[in-house]
Amino acid sequence: MADGKVVGAIELGGTKIVLAVGGSDGRLLKSTTVPTDHPDAVMPDVFGFFRDCGMPLSGIGVGAFGPIVIDPASRDYGKLLETNKPGWSGFDLAGCLSNTLRLPLALVTDVGAAAVGEAHLGALRDTRLGTYLTVGTGIGGAIVLDGTVMPALLHPEMGHIALQRNPRDTALSACRFHPDCAEGLAAGPAIMARFGQSLSHFDRGGAEHQLIADYLGQLCANLVLTLSPHRIVIGGGVGQTPGLIPEISAAMHRHLGGYCVGLADRTDFLTEPALGQDAGIVGALICAGQLQGAVSLARIA
Ligand SMILES: [Zn+2]
Repeated sequence: MADGKVVGAIELGGTKIVLAVGGSDGRLLKSTTVPTDHPDAVMPDVFGFFRDCGMPLSGIGVGAFGPIVIDPASRDYGKLLETNKPGWSGFDLAGCLSNTLRLPLALVTDVGAAAVGEAHLGALRDTRLGTYLTVGTGIGGAIVLDGTVMPALLHPEMGHIALQRNPRDTALSACRFHPDCAEGLAAGPAIMARFGQSLSHFDRGGAEHQLIADYLGQLCANLVLTLSPHRIVIGGGVGQTPGLIPEISAAMHRHLGGYCVGLADRTDFLTEPALGQDAGIVGALICAGQLQGAVSLARIA
């Protein structure tokens, strides 16, 4: 903790919530995990952890599952939008935390927090503009510039970019919004529905790998053309299927069609995360450390 600040962090995930206290440089001092039950049941545990941590905190960093309003200028800042997690639709996460903990709050998405962690201490450390893609039960993405999540109207939803469907692939999209988006074609549920088991059960280079790698390669090609990031990190359960990233890289180049030639000799352009499971909570600590002129609900109201 170079600046000596001790901060709190929350990684709100779909099945578990990680709570931590640590340095604003991302060094963990203390952490625990609670299941993501109904907010009425779980928020007292969250408050109790920080109340009993025994250290004065200068702020709290939160990486939350979405969809959530993260624009501080919005009157709905910090509220969860419609989600299938019981009790969380419409829940005022930022208001609840601010009103009880009385601390400045830095709120990003769970993917955004992981991206910040990787940008400071992991696979995006030596890049200015990085993209973090998580491919698991869904596909989420975040963009970091100089170690900070890029401010935006809504958080990026790059998992819902429309792709060119393989003409022989007649499986129904697993996304209820789009017939041909990346998440609907290549995330975990789409793989399970199409193949009956996860990708790691199939041979590297086989037809199953190639189909999913082709879709994810298309997605990466779109990100290259739109953002021109210095590197794309691919995490998540599907993303970390052994052997998949080189196949995604080959597909990305195929879909770029020789365009963006500067990428051709970059062997580390697509890479796996370096921080593993800790990326999100470490990133949330760093986000709390980045608070200056803190975003608090009192100022927004
Ligand atoms: Zn979609």
